[in-house]
Amino acid sequence: MSEMIEAESLRRVRKELMTCTYCGFCKSVCPTFQMVGWDPSVARGRMVLAYGLLQKEVPADPSVLEHLYQCTTCKDCERRCPSKIAVVDVVESARRDLVAAGHMLPRHRALVDRVAATGNPYGEGMGVPNTLGKRPRRAKVGYFVGCTAAYRDRALADATISVLDKLGEDYTLLDEVCCGSVLQRIGVDEEEVEQLWRRNVDGIRSLGVEKVIFSCAGCYRMFKEEYPKRLDLGFEVQHITEYLAERDLPLRPYKGVVTYHDPCHLGRHCHVYDAPRKVLSMVPEATFKEMARNRETAACCGGGGGVRSAYPELSRGIAGRRVDEASFADMLVTTCPFCVTNLKAGAAGRAAPEIIDLVQLVDRLL
Ligand code: SF4
Ligand code: SF4
Repeated sequence: MSEMIEAESLRRVRKELMTCTYCGFCKSVCPTFQMVGWDPSVARGRMVLAYGLLQKEVPADPSVLEHLYQCTTCKDCERRCPSKIAVVDVVESARRDLVAAGHMLPRHRALVDRVAATGNPYGEGMGVPNTLGKRPRRAKVGYFVGCTAAYRDRALADATISVLDKLGEDYTLLDEVCCGSVLQRIGVDEEEVEQLWRRNVDGIRSLGVEKVIFSCAGCYRMFKEEYPKRLDLGFEVQHITEYLAERDLPLRPYKGVVTYHDPCHLGRHCHVYDAPRKVLSMVPEATFKEMARNRETAACCGGGGGVRSAYPELSRGIAGRRVDEASFADMLVTTCPFCVTNLKAGAAGRAAPEIIDLVQLVDRLL
């Protein structure tokens, strides 16, 4: 398990590796460093490990895998980095090289096998439309549910469908498979991931869909930022918060203090900050208050980058710290099923606000 590996992907980001000055500015924000407290668990240390892999001076041993796979790919360090290093690109390149050399974490291997067998990381065999009891049909608007909302956080899928129905939208569910996000994050071969992209895009196009709406920040990021790098989509992509922000929502009042957690996929990766806040501003009598770290500076919930599946304790610990930052509020709203699930896990045993997805809140008040 401790051999030197060929690092083809890292070779392509060699310039990034050479640019790190080891200044350590990334330490002030890295969620894993704040939990682990050791240099290999921050961007600076990950740069050293990646460079060592590239130079064949560092072996692919279990500790190297652990530090490279504990990065949540939250991108917060990139904001702090004076050298503007694409840290997430480096980490994901290192993971691709590790996977290509046969070093996939066992929990990730199981997840990849389930996607291959069933089209989703949970190994559910029904397909999204059957699971939700709706058949795909031709329509101008499609709702891409995502595997987590379809199979593990059904309340989000139900709330989104309910909101679209209440707003009188003419939409269809889609014959979707995994968007590929988790596979791309953990280093699966790009060609393999792209096969999932093509299945999704072909299925959406075959229904004549002109706009696809997403309730999962991770799926949205894939279609907004990643798919267009290789595919011509031919349809518009919109996060549900952007869709709702365009409307005048007749919401019932909520009396309490509300705060908002920016999912990394939606915020730092896709720059969607205003739409969810605009939707929250439509709730009569609610008092909106930002957490100290918000928008571009929002702390990660710890659920991304394959960390939750491989290191659930670490993930929960990071989430607990984020929940503590919202302790002044009655309600902590976010808009990503991973964030909701992980923040709820982090809140266990703490005095925490109610944690809820924005779509569920809108459905409750509409
Ligand atoms: S902030 Fe950037 S340049 Fe400084 S140590 Fe971290 S990754 Fe390297
Ligand atoms: S992307 Fe996030 S978890 Fe990864 S090194 Fe940067 S700050 Fe740390």
